[in-house]
Amino acid sequence: MSISAGELNEFEVEAAAWFAENKPGDPGFLLPQSFMEVGTDQQFEFLRDWQRKVYEAGYLGLAWPAEYGGGGKHQAFQDIATAEMARQKVPFMTNTIGLSWAGPLILNMGTEAQKQAYIKRILSAEDIWCQGFSEPDNGSDLGNAQLRAVRDGDEFVLNGSKIWTSLGSYADYMILLARSNSETNTKYEGLSYFLSPMKIPGIDPVPIRKLTGEYGFTQTFFDNARIPDSCLIGEEGKGWQVAMKTLTFERAVSGGQAGGVHSMPVFAGEVVELARHAQRDGRPAIEDPLIRDQLVAFLIEERGLELNNQRAQIPGLNTEWPGAIAMARKLTNSEWRQRLNLFAVTLQGANASRYVDDALAIDGGRWQRGYFNSFSSTIGGGTSQIQKNIVGERVLGLPKSA
Ligand SMILES: Cc1cc2nc3c(=O)[nH]c(=O)nc-3n(C[C@H](O)[C@H](O)[C@H](O)COP(=O)(O)OP(=O)(O)OC[C@H]3O[C@@H](n4cnc5c(N)ncnc54)[C@H](O)[C@@H]3O)c2cc1C
Repeated sequence: MSISAGELNEFEVEAAAWFAENKPGDPGFLLPQSFMEVGTDQQFEFLRDWQRKVYEAGYLGLAWPAEYGGGGKHQAFQDIATAEMARQKVPFMTNTIGLSWAGPLILNMGTEAQKQAYIKRILSAEDIWCQGFSEPDNGSDLGNAQLRAVRDGDEFVLNGSKIWTSLGSYADYMILLARSNSETNTKYEGLSYFLSPMKIPGIDPVPIRKLTGEYGFTQTFFDNARIPDSCLIGEEGKGWQVAMKTLTFERAVSGGQAGGVHSMPVFAGEVVELARHAQRDGRPAIEDPLIRDQLVAFLIEERGLELNNQRAQIPGLNTEWPGAIAMARKLTNSEWRQRLNLFAVTLQGANASRYVDDALAIDGGRWQRGYFNSFSSTIGGGTSQIQKNIVGERVLGLPKSA
């Protein structure tokens, strides 16, 4: 697919103008900071309507096939639209699990009927998706998933529970990893992977409250829930391979996501602004040379992360360690964001203890809330420790942990 620089420039100008004109104003209530903190109907409806509007305007799923509702264009167009969403800090896309991991998975491995049924409705946010991987006793050890899926004719009967199900209260579908056979040689065999409806008898998502007071995820109970075997994706008993494929989308090691941002972007430049008005010893914090040093380090790291992301897309620049940047990206980005938020909190001195409900909180308490919520990304999708193991073993070739 050939495209000219002129076409891309024209598209960039159009996208910038559209987002500037259509960016929603202050809704009058607190918006979540990422798709993992959508906790009220009001927040959910606002974000779902916004996603639909972005899709209908042609700025989402631009590189997905046109026959399933995508734009059928080169990925470069979507990258431009997504960068514009981040630059203008427009609200994130609430159906992240659909757009970024279920959707690419279905396009990659789904049947024609599954593609026809799900892809367009993921883009338009008509169907919201969640992910049922973690269980109360098995998170990092995903291969040990125990939720039972017992075949009964052309149906499966589901029993057990999943936990930390982001968007569980609102989801129409779940990508679900379950055990369909427990008599196998290894724990990785006997797992099956389903595209399961959520709004059926026997599935009950119960909201869990977070440290910040926000909701956003559930413990999801399955009590004799019946789903047809047409919900299987991949072969029965081969769910581990499908789960591994999903994680390559979730951790952005593989491309193919529909685009859009998943959280409110945070830029080091915003912390520079904060340092201009936060006071240290009666003077603006930015006047402290040690603080300036740290701000510059954050700005340099931010630029490094951006350039690394661009470099990862050019195979010729990744010959020595192919896939290394992609495998490290979740770890480096989420840890950087957490450190930046914490630094912004510490800049505030005694005001650091003020939270979002305090009228005197600096910047409405967004940095405090951002710091707490930053753990969503250093834990969800595989903890930082697990990401370090992956980089150690698969990039650096260190011995595998037991
Ligand atoms: C905000 C949020 C949203 C989430 N959303 C979802 C969701 O939508 N769907 C879903 O399925 N899950 C979701 N999760 C769950 C998440 O994937 C798990 O919490 C995560 O994989 C860790 O599993 P665990 O909580 O069971 O911790 P454990 O696996 O019990 O780990 C506990 C600690 O031990 C460390 N550890 C474990 N094994 C190793 C090892 N081999 N080497 C080194 N350290 C190790 C971990 O890093 C961690 O610090 C979400 C989590 C959060 C915080």
